[in-house]
Amino acid sequence: MINKSVVSNEGIPLTPLQRRMSLLKILSSLFGIFTLLGLWLIFELRDGYDQALKQASYRAVQRSQIFGQSLRTQILASDYVLRDVASRIQIIDGVFVDTGFNQGKTLSTLLKEKGDTVPDFFSMVLFDRDCKFIATATGQNIGIRSKPELCEARKKFKGSGPMVEYVAGNRSASGRPALVISRHFINASGQFSGGVLGVIELERMQRWLDSLDIASYDAVSLIDNSQLLLARRPAMHSYLEKRMMSEADMNSLSEKFAKSGIATSIDIDGLERLFGIYQIEDFPFTVVYGFEKLAILKQWRKRAIDMSIGYCLLLLLAGFVVRSHITVLRQHNEISKNNALLRSSEANFRMLAENMADIVWQINSFFKVTYTNAADERVRGYSNSEIIGVDIREQFTECGQKIFQQEIDKRVELEKSGNKDLAMKFELPMRCKDGRELWMEISSSPIYGENGEIDGYQGVARDISLRKLHDEKLLQAHQEMESRLLEAAEEKTALQELALHDAMTGLYNRRFLDAAIVREIALSEREQRPLAVIMLDLDHFKNINDRFGHSAGDQVLKALADIMRQTSRESDLICRYGGEEFIAIIPNMTASQAFERAEIWRKQLEQNTVNYGGNEIKITLSAGIAIYPGHGKNGEELILCADEMLYQSKHSGRNQVSIA
Ligand code: GH3
Ligand code: MG
Ligand code: MG
Repeated sequence: MINKSVVSNEGIPLTPLQRRMSLLKILSSLFGIFTLLGLWLIFELRDGYDQALKQASYRAVQRSQIFGQSLRTQILASDYVLRDVASRIQIIDGVFVDTGFNQGKTLSTLLKEKGDTVPDFFSMVLFDRDCKFIATATGQNIGIRSKPELCEARKKFKGSGPMVEYVAGNRSASGRPALVISRHFINASGQFSGGVLGVIELERMQRWLDSLDIASYDAVSLIDNSQLLLARRPAMHSYLEKRMMSEADMNSLSEKFAKSGIATSIDIDGLERLFGIYQIEDFPFTVVYGFEKLAILKQWRKRAIDMSIGYCLLLLLAGFVVRSHITVLRQHNEISKNNALLRSSEANFRMLAENMADIVWQINSFFKVTYTNAADERVRGYSNSEIIGVDIREQFTECGQKIFQQEIDKRVELEKSGNKDLAMKFELPMRCKDGRELWMEISSSPIYGENGEIDGYQGVARDISLRKLHDEKLLQAHQEMESRLLEAAEEKTALQELALHDAMTGLYNRRFLDAAIVREIALSEREQRPLAVIMLDLDHFKNINDRFGHSAGDQVLKALADIMRQTSRESDLICRYGGEEFIAIIPNMTASQAFERAEIWRKQLEQNTVNYGGNEIKITLSAGIAIYPGHGKNGEELILCADEMLYQSKHSGRNQVSIA
């Protein structure tokens, strides 16, 4: 479980402090490595930068030399032609004379022929000691003079080589700017006596530069001793014949070059360039070759970007590694904390479990006990060594085993229906070591393994024998109470019955009648229907009592009650009014119907015989009828009326019915 990265060599887990130290070590090493790498990168790039500029500077110098030498060669070639021409001409008394090499050609023809051998010569001129043009290769301008200051300069020239000068347009004979190369004649007495000159127009120089094979962002300029721009590529016509830079600038550029081998400056086209400068030997011209700095550094920049990206990627990678390491450390700190918590809660749990009164238990999936707390010994008498590994089912009584099997079946059913929360609670009897039986309440929940299968069960068992005993007693008491309550209820109903019924005949009693008659009159009134009140009295009943005894009289009373009951509807209210008098209150009954009913009762009783004590007892009745609403508005009036009619029946000889 413990990751290798956070354990020491001996495999002992590192403490949080050690982990922090290891992180610090990693961080400081990475910091060192990246600082060194960064410094190296800066040095490398700086060096590459200098190298790129130095190499370019070297090439710029080379190029300026190549073009300078090329121009020098052209000038020397021109000078050669001038010397050739000069060797073919004699000056006698200030007059130009053909030496005879020219086979009678005119001087102008000679100049033209020789001039044509140098393609860059625009023209050749032969001039006298007053700088007057004696002959020209073009045959034009003969007789004109050079500007006096030019002439003076030629006279003063003492060099052994040709005199080379830049002549601005406003001073040249053609009116166009040009390079003028001249060779002078000096007579025997050492005096200037004229000469021959060649003209290369600046335009031609420009064309020459244009024909050079150079990169588009490079620049090459030709300048004279006073920094006037004579020709340039790319062409900058507005700057031609003007000062390209001050002498001071030129000097500072040369100084820079002397110091570092690199001369950079902003060019006239605004671009920063790196210059190579070549002063052409013997001649007053300088070639300045410039590389655009940005173009030179293109390669270097690309490399710098690549290397920087590489560095950043490495930095990112290191950051990522450190982050992962920190995450792992955090996780391990968390795990350590959790383990500590777990250990402490486990200790708490054990302390609780060992000291609690209930049995805490654990079994495996084969129902073998894997743990019980000390309470098991206290409650059932089994020590830990006696119970571990025992099949728990053996500890149940027969009844307990049945209950347990039912619980297992229930659990299986629940599992099948996908129920995962299978905590259960049940009660069953268990055996103690000394053979006693105890009822235990068992709470159980499954223990799941890593694959989600049930690995076993754990829970708590509590001795509930005492409670069971109390429960049983309570149940008994409850049952007794219930039966008593039932009896009391029955008694109550009987009493209620008794209150409204006559005990002997089962008919309603007078109390009921008094209340019922009020209700029935109100109902009849509301529904506008008649109500009959029939009053009966046994004839000479006293004699029955006297002859056969009181019990026989009772039998006779019951017989009449039966007759009345059997020939009545549910809604008829038959009452024993008192002694041997009966009243029937019959709703929705007319006088004739009431008469008919009373007659039925009279006839049935007349024909009836009561057998009592071997005697056949015969009896009759008299009846009086009153009908609501005709014979009375209330119960009292109606009963009084019916009683009067009964009296009438008695008076008229008994065994008859009278109606009001
Ligand atoms: P009459 O034809 O005029 O009605 O004659 P009678 O004898 O029936 O009249 P009387 O009212 O004088 O007698 C009623 C007798 O009924 C008196 C009494 O002893 C008897 N008696 C009253 N209640 C009971 C009873 O519950 N059981 C028995 N056996 N006799 C009763
Ligand atoms: Mg009577
Ligand atoms: Mg009577």
